[in-house]
Amino acid sequence: MVEVHKVSGAAFDGNVYLILDKKPILVDAGMMAGPTLKNIKKFIEPSKIEMIVLTHCHHDHSGAAPELLEATGARLLLSEKEEGAVGDDLASVAYLFGQQAPNYKVDETLKEGMVLDIGEWKLRVMETPGHSQGSLCLYEEKEKVLFSGDTVFPDGNIGRTDMYGGDTPELVKSIERLTKLDVQTMYPGHMEITSRDVNRQIQMSLRFAKSI
Ligand SMILES: [Zn+2]
Repeated sequence: MVEVHKVSGAAFDGNVYLILDKKPILVDAGMMAGPTLKNIKKFIEPSKIEMIVLTHCHHDHSGAAPELLEATGARLLLSEKEEGAVGDDLASVAYLFGQQAPNYKVDETLKEGMVLDIGEWKLRVMETPGHSQGSLCLYEEKEKVLFSGDTVFPDGNIGRTDMYGGDTPELVKSIERLTKLDVQTMYPGHMEITSRDVNRQIQMSLRFAKSI
């Protein structure tokens, strides 16, 4: 039985998820390593984590990557479209948080259709640009689970498109693709995890995105 725990602990941080499958992984890194590591240790020894998969390069999802990589020894995976954003204050929007973008090594780049086989779960990579150029979602078909990054949030919310690399028509197209999935549980990059009529929530996100 695969478990997912939200392990980010700091307010205003991006959500960090620990997936406990045969190969434990983190989805996103957040920007505050301390509280996140403390939460990870409630479930697992950090050195057991094999991969950190970033949904996108933004600082609130990646800022703690160097510290988490050091603590875990994991490999880091990011969209091939955002490899160049690492260490870039503008592309990573680190400036919005009054910080400088840290540098870290990308071990593997991701693109549409790749599958991360972590044991019971096979996470399919979907390229969902709009909020950022290389935003990704991860979909687990058997369990109907979606890690939606900052593309869609609960209750019809959507990722903003007014930052570097943002593009509203692209976001609409990406959300249109998400409406074709059957999603039972959504793990968004911000806000709360939801299992309540998720397909309808994504439909609402699509309507909202089309209206802006
Ligand atoms: Zn973002």
